[in-house]
Amino acid sequence: MKNKQTIIIIGGGISGLFCGAILSKEGYDVQVFEQHYKIGGGLHNFKREGVDFETGMHIIGTFHEGGVMNKICSWLGIMDKLSILPSNDDCFELFQIGSDGKTYRYAKGRERFEETLSADFPEERANIKRYVQAIYDIVKEAKQFNLEAGDLSIRHSPNFMSSVGDFINSFTENEKLRAVLALSNPLYGGDQYHTPAYIHSIISTLYIDSAARFVGGSQQLADALVEVILQSGGKVFIRNGVKRIEIKDKAIAYIETADNRQHTADWYISTIHPSSLFKLMDTSKIQRSYWKRLDSIPNSYSAFTVYIIFNQGMFPYLNYTGYYINDYSQVWQLCEYQAETFPGGMMYLTPPVTATDRFAQKMIVNCIMPFSAVKKWENTTVGKRGEEYNEFKKRCEQQIIDKMEKLYPDIRSCIKSVYSASPLTIRDFYNQKEGALYGVKKDCENMMRSYISVRTKLKNLLMSGQNINLHGIVGTPLTALNTCGELLGMEYLLNKINKKQI
Ligand SMILES: Cc1cc2nc3c(=O)[nH]c(=O)nc-3n(C[C@H](O)[C@H](O)[C@H](O)COP(=O)(O)OP(=O)(O)OC[C@H]3O[C@@H](n4cnc5c(N)ncnc54)[C@H](O)[C@@H]3O)c2cc1C
Repeated sequence: MKNKQTIIIIGGGISGLFCGAILSKEGYDVQVFEQHYKIGGGLHNFKREGVDFETGMHIIGTFHEGGVMNKICSWLGIMDKLSILPSNDDCFELFQIGSDGKTYRYAKGRERFEETLSADFPEERANIKRYVQAIYDIVKEAKQFNLEAGDLSIRHSPNFMSSVGDFINSFTENEKLRAVLALSNPLYGGDQYHTPAYIHSIISTLYIDSAARFVGGSQQLADALVEVILQSGGKVFIRNGVKRIEIKDKAIAYIETADNRQHTADWYISTIHPSSLFKLMDTSKIQRSYWKRLDSIPNSYSAFTVYIIFNQGMFPYLNYTGYYINDYSQVWQLCEYQAETFPGGMMYLTPPVTATDRFAQKMIVNCIMPFSAVKKWENTTVGKRGEEYNEFKKRCEQQIIDKMEKLYPDIRSCIKSVYSASPLTIRDFYNQKEGALYGVKKDCENMMRSYISVRTKLKNLLMSGQNINLHGIVGTPLTALNTCGELLGMEYLLNKINKKQI
């Protein structure tokens, strides 16, 4: 039965599309407005020389039978449209340390993960077991992650809200093991003093259980979600960003889009960074303390990314994510940028074109970079940043490839072309303040400061997206559930998904 209420969604990234798909499937009249020429936000793929590159969704998880994303996508009827390749069981993440040349592996499955790490640190076997038990216990507490009704803001065990650094350090005195347990922190913008242990635990377990990647790129998920919206009668507009929001009587009166049209709806959902949202409205019409707090939450760090196209049949396909850091002691210091020594660490992967690739068509290398490294060009726009900026990018590219050469001495001879993106690219492409990889920084020392509710001070405006709750492939769809739950009832929605009622 058609619910007559209308919904306008600002932003066609993963959260906007999940909100759109859920609500249109439930009978709402949905319109999604995306500023970019292509839908998807972090799911968007772009082409260089005919080669497709993912922008913000390389490593995924929980699409396996029984996993959270599998349940949500099955309920939406799109699971069979997705082509997903599990990463290697014996090594889904490989870590190489420059200072002592050691290599460590994260293996799939709880027991294999414990065994593999214990082989590297035999005297730490019991501590590794305790650590693994603890991360799985924390995830059990994160009700929403298990598709149960619950809120992250309610009371939890001391571990849940402790800082990730304190949490990891509480299991071992061994400095190398401490670093190895923290090595994948670029996946969640980890800050040892501020990131809550629950974020580390959710991200770690989701990959231990089910690390995977899209075959042929993440755009397929965006396209499948758009299809759900269109088939349910909704509309998706691209190249038509929201440029102004008119407020009247503590509610949105209408939005104005790039094509100068005004649109009204019963409900509005913003999936963009709160600071970008406030720039669209006259903030004197909303409670000052509210928007000031949201506007001033510190952001997670950004990254410099190199996109490499290989000559055909030259570089092996790697079915895992690789990491490199200069030294164990730098595991939490990756965002401390120094031009001469950049990059302190790298995360690299070869996205699959088919499920049986023997050779890699391309490689993506992500290196943490703070926004301050590009601040002097902050007032420039895409393609008009000047020669000095172009030289800066070229230098970073070469420094990254120099470092990749330490791992793969022949890599230069395999490379056909190189492209790159800086924190400014991320800022301007997603409209994400300071090019923050994962939106606002969650801070266990002051959860209330970084807490953003899906409800806002405007009666008909809800929020969604990575800034609200958790980022990434699982975090943003779960936040979308929270947002939609405000309209549909959370229990109703979870029941439907858990029972796979289509
Ligand atoms: C380089 C990089 C690599 C990453 N790798 C991974 C990974 O491997 N795995 C993982 O799980 N996560 C990864 N992430 C994180 C993940 O991409 C994000 O958490 C996720 O995309 C956030 O989704 P969202 O819907 O909140 O925002 P977005 O995907 O950013 O969507 C917001 C959308 O709003 C649009 N928009 C902005 N302003 C307006 C406006 N005024 N009007 C209309 N539209 C507007 C934007 O164009 C964008 O499409 C990565 C992020 C980055 C940057």
